[in-house]
Amino acid sequence: MSGCLCLPGYKKKVDPPISILLQKPTQPPPPPPNKNMDPVERLQSGFKQFKSEVYDKKPELFEPLKEGQAPTYMVFACSDSRCCPSVTLGLKPGEAFTVRNIAAMVPPYDKTKYTGIGSAIEYAVCALKVKVLTVIGHSRCGGIKALLSMQDGAADTFHFVEDWVRIGFLAKKKVVTEYPHTPFDDQCTILEKEAVNVSLYNLLTYPWVKEGVAAGTLKLVGGHYDFVKGVFTTWEK
Ligand SMILES: [Zn+2]
Repeated sequence: MSGCLCLPGYKKKVDPPISILLQKPTQPPPPPPNKNMDPVERLQSGFKQFKSEVYDKKPELFEPLKEGQAPTYMVFACSDSRCCPSVTLGLKPGEAFTVRNIAAMVPPYDKTKYTGIGSAIEYAVCALKVKVLTVIGHSRCGGIKALLSMQDGAADTFHFVEDWVRIGFLAKKKVVTEYPHTPFDDQCTILEKEAVNVSLYNLLTYPWVKEGVAAGTLKLVGGHYDFVKGVFTTWEK
């Protein structure tokens, strides 16, 4: 028997979209993570929440990332727990190749030191072909405060910290010279941005970065996230 079997009020069955087929059957949502949990349980709980609310719901985002990454940005940000750039800037997985360290410092090119930073820059620029290198400072940065507090000739308190933040020494020199009567906290705020400028300058000591900027294929962008005022500013170099 052939012919149309449609009856009034009968709706033709529509195939579900592919994104629904890729999802697992609905499960009860995991309990929200909280800081009173056992620390490892907190991590597992956080992942379960991410998996059910993001990973399983956005196969269009995560499926292509299984094959590789082509991030637009390389981001340098502070290790400070209050300023994760993926959270504050809404950067999605696959969008930003990220280095985080004390005070978001970029040291100058040096093959005998800083190979962790140098290798990340080299891979981002030469292999991943990122388009934008951005260094993001932030308010109330402990590393910047340490840099500004250091007295000439005083012994270091830590094994590594002081030596690391000295990367921003020229920025500190500029701030204390140009703003000698400015209160310490305000000097810190200025230094947070000047240290970013030193890092942007240091990026140009890496030959592939210098070539990319000269060719117009790379852009250097400074940034500052003020989590006290809730303000994010950027500037280009
Ligand atoms: Zn910081």
